[in-house]
Amino acid sequence: RMRSAVEARTPDRLRSSIVCIMGHVDTGKTKLLDNIRRTNVQEGEAGGITQQIGASFFPAETLRERMGSLVEKKNITVKVPGLMIIDTPGHESFSNLRSRGSSLCDLAIVVVDIMHGLEPQTIESLTMLRSKKTPFVIALNKVDRLYGWSTVKDRPFIESLEVQPEGTRSEFESRASQVLLQLAEQGLNAELYYKNKDFKEYVSLIPTSAITGEGVPDILMMLVLLSQKMLVDRVMWCPEVQCTVLEVKVIEGLGTTADVILANGTLKRGDQIVMCGFSGPVVTRVRELLTPRPLREMRVKTDYLHHESIDGAMGIKICANNLEGVVAGSACLVPYKDVPYDLEVLKEDVMSDLSQLAKAAS
Ligand code: GDP
Repeated sequence: RMRSAVEARTPDRLRSSIVCIMGHVDTGKTKLLDNIRRTNVQEGEAGGITQQIGASFFPAETLRERMGSLVEKKNITVKVPGLMIIDTPGHESFSNLRSRGSSLCDLAIVVVDIMHGLEPQTIESLTMLRSKKTPFVIALNKVDRLYGWSTVKDRPFIESLEVQPEGTRSEFESRASQVLLQLAEQGLNAELYYKNKDFKEYVSLIPTSAITGEGVPDILMMLVLLSQKMLVDRVMWCPEVQCTVLEVKVIEGLGTTADVILANGTLKRGDQIVMCGFSGPVVTRVRELLTPRPLREMRVKTDYLHHESIDGAMGIKICANNLEGVVAGSACLVPYKDVPYDLEVLKEDVMSDLSQLAKAAS
């Protein structure tokens, strides 16, 4: 008998973890994402970050670089192949990125403005994350706005704090305590990450500035550590496909395409796929598997690279027939070849997404 998908999983092979950014409007979600991705850097794909469909990918090597002095100081070994950060911050991407009721996001960053503390959408984000049991960190953003803050670009926060004037440090401490108190009022145990001795019980607060990049090394380190310490079971690579549709759109020259997040497993050209359609299940075959061409190669004639086969986690554009009525936010199932399957069961399975999505939307 074939080995089952579960047996094939091993902690020696992890996939990259999928990270989503959430929080109240104007707290700096977009700025933080831009800073992490370095979108403003001239060289295009600076530091090895690659553009996927709907997400940016940070290979382990780039993560080590961005963590800088923290790698040695905290003795960090990066075991995940990288982090995949969803490009659209906010509630919607978190709730759309579901697969059979559970979130496709492995981790989240909830951004809080240190000057404003908890705001209504912060609380909504916390509620959503807790109901899905998704681990998260809180970025206590805009520390550069503290009175008298002295900046060194991209410095780990713990180093930045040490050199601040006395008054600035005490303003920081009192604002951070205020936020910790507000979180406690929400029934959430939290602690500044460098004082946090128990990642499972206490949510980590990571002070950041999306403008100066201070605290960004710390945030990347925490995401790596949480992936490796708390999520191993979830991020073990597994041949069984776990995939969700982000968006269905018509692209000139390609026809109707589906942008998907392949969280786990291998998707191949020619694979049969089963998706949820507005007027019934869609059963079709993958004609093309595409990823964006790296920016520096943009001069060539098409914007996409073609693949025979892709391993998760990855953001992909799928070309196939009959994608017109496919519902965004629904699962894309692939009959797993090593175990017997019943197409009718898969069809029913994908269609159950429709009622769930309708419920989530109302
Ligand atoms: P979003 O609505 O959460 O995506 O927030 P944005 O990223 O659009 O940021 C809202 C505003 O706050 C913009 O004017 C940003 O320039 C500013 N901002 C964001 N992060 C920081 C920060 O760390 N420090 C300062 N001083 N301003 C910030």
